Amino acid sequence: MIVAILGAGPAGMSCANACLSFGLTPVVIELSADIGGIQLGNFHPNLWLLGEPEETGREMSLRMARHFAALPLTCVKQARITAVNGVAGDFNLDYQTPAGEHSLAAHAIVIATGTHPRGTPELLALTAASDRVIIGPLSETIRDDIRQARVLILGGGDNALDHALFLAERDNQVRVCTRRQFSARQPFQDTCNAHPNIELRANCTPDSLSLDDRRIVATWGSIKVRYDWLLAMFGYLPNTDVLTCFAPELRPSLSPSGHIQTDIWQRTTVAGIHAAGDVTETPQPSVPTALAQGLVAARAAESLAL
Ligand SMILES: Cc1cc2nc3c(=O)[nH]c(=O)nc-3n(C[C@H](O)[C@H](O)[C@H](O)COP(=O)(O)OP(=O)(O)OC[C@H]3O[C@@H](n4cnc5c(N)ncnc54)[C@H](O)[C@@H]3O)c2cc1C
Repeated sequence: MIVAILGAGPAGMSCANACLSFGLTPVVIELSADIGGIQLGNFHPNLWLLGEPEETGREMSLRMARHFAALPLTCVKQARITAVNGVAGDFNLDYQTPAGEHSLAAHAIVIATGTHPRGTPELLALTAASDRVIIGPLSETIRDDIRQARVLILGGGDNALDHALFLAERDNQVRVCTRRQFSARQPFQDTCNAHPNIELRANCTPDSLSLDDRRIVATWGSIKVRYDWLLAMFGYLPNTDVLTCFAPELRPSLSPSGHIQTDIWQRTTVAGIHAAGDVTETPQPSVPTALAQGLVAARAAESLAL
């Protein structure tokens, strides 16, 4: 029984590994050139996965990717799904790679495509015009290049404050502005509030943002402040674009937040189509959650074969 798995992050890799142990044949289709998922860019220690307390997200991803690469399965990288048709037990997936067009017959499908950082049209226009405007936290520039600078971070969650601390400890002056109240974990808020290089401002979104040479100008009423860097950390949106390639009757229901809805078996509203990891509506997105959901999705796919 062939299980087509879309995405090779923790959820997709775990699902493929579990499929093998259940006697199924996983075929993994990954959009990017890299195996490992969004944590490949995370230079912070992974706080939620037991076993390797000092390991960064990137190190963890590479460790999982090495294990995955040694598994006896097919993984196609740089592959873009172009059409999905059929019914449970008899799906057909068309996809493109740099080598050309391909088709895959599969009995079941697991969608494990994760998320991407959320931007706004204004911020997307600014990032196109300046390399000093960065959307999302996972950037080597943030890790290596921002020193002795004035930094404005927009966002009020864990990522915003995690990066405020990271940058404050590297000799930067950081202001963090959020639209409402901060939602980051309280220990982060307490540490940031106590740090002399960090200013936390709730209910304080700039009225406008613009560029002046290499600086970013943030305006609050009549006050204009120039920053060397602008980082936007507004959370993540699920990667569900791929569903536009699915035949209409094969498109699973989405939650109000746009995530794929599943039951506890990771079954979507469409027979034979499962979803796992951050692309689903999940109370606590994390690597351990994604690994577990990938495993459960494989088990659910196996039950179709019985
Ligand atoms: C900044 C940050 C810090 C985090 N810190 C931690 C932490 O410390 N500990 C922790 O446990 N979790 C952490 N998380 C959460 C964790 O990264 C996610 O929960 C986990 O990576 C989800 O795994 P996933 O496989 O669902 O998605 P992802 O890791 O996002 O992987 C999805 C994969 O699908 C691929 N893909 C996307 N679209 C398609 C498509 N159309 N076709 C095929 N493939 C596609 C992507 O290229 C990617 O490889 C953090 C997340 C972020 C953003």
